[in-house]
Order: sequence, then C-alpha cells, then structure tokens
Amino acid sequence: MQRPFSFETPNGQPIFSLEFFPPKDEKGEAHLWVELTELNSLHPEFVSVTYGAGGSTRERTVRITSEITARTGLRTVAHLTCIGSSKAELSEILDQYWSAGIRDILALRGDPPAGPQSEWIPTIGGFTHSDELVSLAVAANFNVGVAAFPDCHPASYGNYTEDVLVLLEKERRGAQFATTQFFFSADKYFNLVKELRERGSKLPIFAGILPITQVKQLSRMAQLGGTPIPPEIMKAFIEVENEPEKVKALGIEIAVNLCNELIAMGVPGLHFYTMNSAYATKEIVKRIGLR
Ligand SMILES: Cc1cc2nc3c(=O)[nH]c(=O)nc-3n(C[C@H](O)[C@H](O)[C@H](O)COP(=O)(O)OP(=O)(O)OC[C@H]3O[C@@H](n4cnc5c(N)ncnc54)[C@H](O)[C@@H]3O)c2cc1C
Repeated sequence: MQRPFSFETPNGQPIFSLEFFPPKDEKGEAHLWVELTELNSLHPEFVSVTYGAGGSTRERTVRITSEITARTGLRTVAHLTCIGSSKAELSEILDQYWSAGIRDILALRGDPPAGPQSEWIPTIGGFTHSDELVSLAVAANFNVGVAAFPDCHPASYGNYTEDVLVLLEKERRGAQFATTQFFFSADKYFNLVKELRERGSKLPIFAGILPITQVKQLSRMAQLGGTPIPPEIMKAFIEVENEPEKVKALGIEIAVNLCNELIAMGVPGLHFYTMNSAYATKEIVKRIGLR
C-alpha cells in the first residue's frame, strides 16, 4: 500500500499540492510541460491530474498522467471517475496507473454531461456513487482520496449533513484524505472539518484554492462546482474586468488572504487549481511563505 501523506513539515506549515488537467492538443501539451517545470521548482508534496472520461479523452488522460510521473518523478495523484466505465474497465485503468508507478487515486463520481444537478445515470456494470470506487481502489492497494464540498455538493441541494455522512462513509471504506472544491469562505471550510471531527472523522481535508485569472472563468467554474461567489468579490472583479493585469492581481490577493486565514487556523494542506498556468500559483505560494 502507498504511504499516506506526511504532514511533518518544517515550521509546522501545511503541505501544498498542484492540480493540472490533460490538455486537448499538442500545443496545450507543450504549454503544460513548460508550466509544470516552472512549478516543479516549488517542490510541491504532490501533483494531481484531472480525469476526462470517454474514448480518446480517457486514453490521453491516462497517457499524460503517467508521463507527468515519469518526467518529473513527482508523487502523482490520478483522478478517476465512474463516468462511462464498468467496474471491469475501472479496474483496467487502475492497473494501468499502477504499472505507471502511480499509487494515489482521487476517487470521484464525475458529473453527468448536462451538469452536476442533472440526473445521474450510472453506466451499465458501473458504479452509482464514488464510495464504491473508493472500495475498488482501496482493494487494489492505492492510497485513496475523495472530493469534499465546503459549500455543499450541487446535487445535495443544501443538505450539508448528507454530504458529511457521505464523507464518513468514504472514510469508513478506506479513503485517506479529501480535497475540497474551491471556495471563498474559510469559515465554511472549518465548519465542514468541525462537523466531521464531531462525528469521529480523522480525514485530512486539503483546501482547494482557485487563483482567479479571468472573470469569465470565475462565473463558469462557480456555476459548475456549486460555489457561490460572495457579492463583494464579484463586484471587485467586475470593476476591473477589462483590465487583465488588475484581474490577475486581484485574484492573487483574494487567494493569498484566504490561504493566510486557513494557515492561521491550522489547515493541513493547500491544493492549488493551477489551470495549467504557473504564474498566479507561484506568486501565491511565495507570498504566503510556503517557498
Ligand atoms: C477536488 C475535486 C476534484 C475533481 N476532479 C474531477 C475530475 O478529475 N474529473 C471529473 O470529471 N470531475 C471531477 N470533479 C467533479 C466531481 O466529479 C463532481 O463534483 C461530482 O458531481 C461529484 O463527485 P463525488 O465524487 O463527490 O460524487 P459522490 O460522492 O458520488 O456524490 C455525488 C452526490 O451523491 C450523493 N451521494 C454520494 N454517495 C451516496 C450514497 N452512498 N448514497 C446516497 N447519496 C450519495 C452526494 O451527497 C452527492 O450529492 C472533482 C471535484 C473535486 C471537488
């Protein structure tokens, strides 16, 4: 079994990790290698690579994820979803990751094509919820992580307790960490942690941080991920939306403030959604004093 993450860091600082997505074409891939090399110099605890289901996308995802591990030697968490695969096919993908030296899986359900709140129809012979995928990956000896939602999962329609119970069930099945959807309120993150601890959970919850670099991207991602944007943040972005440099600076400032609040309150890990771009994440990591 893969070793769990170590939280023994100098000065008791949180660990940090970086998320990438598999690019769609060669140009995007060339860009990924440049940005990844730049970010690798920060020495993250691990990188994670998102999963795109379906035919050629799936093959490219597995290839690029495996290549990241081979090229960088970084500990790589491969995301895997239940979308479009039977249990046997999911086992095959896990085997491919294992052969590529990957020992960490983020086990997810995935979203229906029409969005997170639309009806979820499981693949024939596949899984209904991600907890079943957790069991499959744990049985295959992976160190397994899961998703968590400080603002509640969009399909839970505000039923926060249900989300907390779902996380407890995933931990019971062997999940060893959770990474959150991006969020803007440190209080919501700590509320989720508190609810879990009150029920006996020891699951480390890594806080997902999105450095916002474009206003258009913010609205789209918030809608998909079910993260409400506080009105004062939206207003601040709208005021500078036609000035790209100011948008980036504001996005960095908001992320730095959130990270500092989380660090002061003892977050064990910060997970940056890099969007395959080094600049903003590098700046934030430096400004919060992690490197
Ligand atoms: C950190 C992170 C990384 C992500 N990476 C990817 C990625 O790489 N690729 C991708 O396609 N998507 C990704 N997603 C999106 C994710 O797939 C969606 O948010 C999806 O809708 C939910 O995934 P889940 O694993 O939480 O699903 P589940 O745990 O299955 O939960 C989905 C819904 O079902 C409910 N539920 C869960 N288990 C049960 C149960 N046993 N009984 C009844 N109800 C239950 C939950 O409360 C929730 O409402 C990511 C999300 C996060 C937060």
